[in-house]
Parts: sequence; structure tokens; C-alpha cells
Amino acid sequence: MPRRWPPIPRKLDGLAGPITVKVRRVESFAASDGDHCWGLYKPERREIHLATKLPPAIRWHTLAHEWAHVWLLDSGVVNVIRGDGADRDQAIELICDSLASAFVRSFVRVSGINPWESA
Ligand SMILES: [Zn+2]
Repeated sequence: MPRRWPPIPRKLDGLAGPITVKVRRVESFAASDGDHCWGLYKPERREIHLATKLPPAIRWHTLAHEWAHVWLLDSGVVNVIRGDGADRDQAIELICDSLASAFVRSFVRVSGINPWESA
């Protein structure tokens, strides 16, 4: 029988120190560009906020996406991404989505989790 997704961790680590993860009772967040998203990273507080009403696979993908923002910021990689404005923001989002997809796929493979679990 496939394993279930583990609970979302309340603490993670980044290169610059620990990160607190908070699951909020909202369906989405309003991003600074006016878009709606399922997760946010607040660098000044080192907090990742996740929307609560997500299937586990999407919640984990969103967590890994926000965690990827932390990796890029803590490592300074964001400082070498060229472009400005929306192009640069889009490049950062693509990088974070790519890392999150690779992380979640690998996590499913090594853990034996059923990726389609619904609750
Ligand atoms: Zn993002």
C-alpha cells in the first residue's frame, strides 16, 4: 500500500538559518504583483506561508517552490539572474517551479508516496 504524504514541517532550514512554515486558513494569497498564489515567502521574517485548502501534492509542491525562493535568496543566486522587472521575476518563478517539481517527483520516488492522495 502506498504511503501517505507526511505533515507539512513547521521548521525548515536554509543556508542563512531556520525558516518557519505557517499554514494559513485561506484559499490563496494576494502576491505583490496582484496575482493570487498558494504560498508566500516573507524574507524579513524568514517565514513561508501556505494556503490550507490544497491537495497534499500541491501543498508540498508549493512548499518546495517557496523553499526554493529561500535557497536563491540565501545563496545570493538571485543577484546573478539577469534582466529586470517582470522578465526577471518570471525567470525566478520558473527556476523555483523547476526545483519544486524535481524535488516533489524525487520525494515521491524515494518515499513510495501515492502522489494522487486527495486528503
Ligand atoms: Zn514564487
